[in-house]
Amino acid sequence: MTAPVGRFAPTPSGRMHLGNVFAALIAWLSVRSRNGHLVLRMEDLDTQRTSAEFAETLRQDLLWLGLDWDLETAPQSQRSSVYDQYFQQLADLGLLYPCYCTRSQLHSVNAPHLSDGTYVYPGTCRNLTLEDRTAKNRTPSWRVKVPDRIWTVEDLCQGRYVENLTTDCGDFVVRRADGVYVYQLAVTVDDGEAGVTEVVRGTDLLSSAPRQMYLQELFGFSHPDYGHVPLLLAPDGRRLSKRDMDLDLGQLRLRLKPEQLIGSLAFSAGLMEKAEPVSTRELAAEFRWEKLKKDSICLQANDLF
Ligand SMILES: [Zn+2]
Repeated sequence: MTAPVGRFAPTPSGRMHLGNVFAALIAWLSVRSRNGHLVLRMEDLDTQRTSAEFAETLRQDLLWLGLDWDLETAPQSQRSSVYDQYFQQLADLGLLYPCYCTRSQLHSVNAPHLSDGTYVYPGTCRNLTLEDRTAKNRTPSWRVKVPDRIWTVEDLCQGRYVENLTTDCGDFVVRRADGVYVYQLAVTVDDGEAGVTEVVRGTDLLSSAPRQMYLQELFGFSHPDYGHVPLLLAPDGRRLSKRDMDLDLGQLRLRLKPEQLIGSLAFSAGLMEKAEPVSTRELAAEFRWEKLKKDSICLQANDLF
């Protein structure tokens, strides 16, 4: 068996919060426990919110935690000419079409909505004539046509997840009207070109996996293994976010040693029997996906609050 290749793909828009730290920890443990490699990549498609300073702080924070990597690949903001080539592949396959729908049209009450609040694109612009398109007189986004087919994710943490892109998502945007490529395309290209074999991230991204698997097939990449880790909740049950300044790494580093933080997370997640300080290296020796809790994890460490 060849060594696995995992990745960290943080967005450099601020300090990491504990949820980001947790996903990075599991990504690191899963790969390092099998002597695999890790790739770091900055997901800075949103150049308004991200910066090189935040990226450098992220690197320092990961190293402080004991989460190292073997290679850093180019940030997404520098790769639009690469994404252009993959976009052209989709165009050559006849799978792209321009979409002129406005935001309010897409979110109108008539649009079919799923239980999680996302909408299914009903294919409004799929069959526009050239005449129709010219008459729109606005810059379109570009959507990829999806097949009527079942996609199955055998998730390392969540188990089996099944989706039909036609009924659960619809044709999806790969390039926005302002020319920026969307997350789904950029992630698929970056992971594929870096030879990533294992994608570990928060469970809020589980429903992205089928879209990425579809693009992987079109681009000729193998499917990676997926592990979507649970959300972290504060002891009172509220969801952690970047707004919780008290739980971002800038504050936590002032109060805690990295081993205390890693130990608290590992205990809360079911990876340790007792809450005690531990290094990432020590934890890697014991790591098994089966130990990890699948549902939302309530932090059980009072010293963090
Ligand atoms: Zn449209």
